[in-house]
Amino acid sequence: MINQIVLEKNFISCIVIAPFFNKFTMLVVQKFGGTSVGDIPRIKNVARKVKAELDKKNKVIVVVSAMSGVTNQLVDYCNQVSSLISEEALAEYDSIVSSGEQVTSGLLALELQSMGYKARSLLGWQIPLKTDNSHSKARIESIDGDFLLKSLDSYDVVVVAGFQGIEEESNRIATLGRGGSDTSAVAIAAAVKADICDIYTDVNGVYTTDPRITDKARRLKKVTYEEMLEMAYSGSKVLQTRSVAMAMNHNVRVRVLSTFEEVSDASGTTLVNNIEEIMERRMITGISYSKNDVRITLVKMPDHPGVSARIFGALADKDINIDMIVQNVSQDGNSFDITFTVPNTDFEMAKMTIESIADEIKYEKLLFDDNIAKISVIGVGMISHSGVAHTMFKTLAEKNINILLISTSEIKVSVLIAKEYGELAVRMLHDAYGLNAKNKD
Ligand code: ASP
Ligand code: MG
Repeated sequence: MINQIVLEKNFISCIVIAPFFNKFTMLVVQKFGGTSVGDIPRIKNVARKVKAELDKKNKVIVVVSAMSGVTNQLVDYCNQVSSLISEEALAEYDSIVSSGEQVTSGLLALELQSMGYKARSLLGWQIPLKTDNSHSKARIESIDGDFLLKSLDSYDVVVVAGFQGIEEESNRIATLGRGGSDTSAVAIAAAVKADICDIYTDVNGVYTTDPRITDKARRLKKVTYEEMLEMAYSGSKVLQTRSVAMAMNHNVRVRVLSTFEEVSDASGTTLVNNIEEIMERRMITGISYSKNDVRITLVKMPDHPGVSARIFGALADKDINIDMIVQNVSQDGNSFDITFTVPNTDFEMAKMTIESIADEIKYEKLLFDDNIAKISVIGVGMISHSGVAHTMFKTLAEKNINILLISTSEIKVSVLIAKEYGELAVRMLHDAYGLNAKNKD
């Protein structure tokens, strides 16, 4: 059977020859995050999780992150010697920060060897996992799934270094953005047509909201890809946003599990395609919270066609993520304001980019505010329930919390409020939507 797969770029394809496994064998991708491989005892624990799959006669490809804290440390070293503005500098950054995964993939392969398995590590370039040249947040172009499957003929298990690939033209290592080993794992699962992609982390699934904010948060047994995408984008840290988009586009069955608990059929959270798979209808699935955004406002620009296109075109060229865009024309119709948010990691670049086109767009003032929290209520149930937004605004009003900005999609309502009220708002809303009652998934 020959499958064409298209990853993050449309023109990419790769040929995968599906192997003839016996019918009880599953092809499993297991991904372990930074805390799961945080020290040697934990790497040994991960090896036992791999063994559990191998004992079931499953075929296993493992993907690992760097030990927790290591990538931060490496990024910090880079920042100490460079402002990391040029492409050349970012290529070097990629070479440096990708090293954390090289260490953990090697260590896990070594431990598996000690247990008697034939195991090896694989770096991005050895597969190869090819990317574009957008260093520090490269996109995957293709993966040689055939190579990975063939390597399972010679090895019991292979351990892939997540987060990294190779940009072929310049023959340089590229990384996939922070949290990118989730995307490595899902892309590999798509490329080899894995039966399941298990993402092992330090929490045992996706919750209705961050359990650190309220102990009334509940684990969701299932969420749809769309909901998970909105949650990841709006601040839930469990999965990298791009990995969810990739899973959705390629129909990869993804499960989020804890590395530190026994796994059973009831464990974790499974991403599903279809709301029908979720037995009980619910209005709201979860509440996301982010306090890492900056609000940018361009005040009083002459109102004529093309100004917004110029602003957002310039920001897109720099790969800056924009959210919550609001534009308003003045009453006399001569000028307009634009407000939007960016992640604080993109803020400096966004500011520089806007200032560099100041002569063209002629704003009177450029304002910034990082004292904000973004709260989003998310759920596909919203499509068939009314009053979701009203409940949100009423709940905030009851606590005298002022709303600075509102934006909506089919399955999400987001507001910006002052940072100091963020956690209170999450707790109030979690209660108001009945998420901490006895509602089942
Ligand atoms: N080690 C990388 C990071 O910390 C990639 C990952 O863990 O997913 O961002
Ligand atoms: Mg991660």
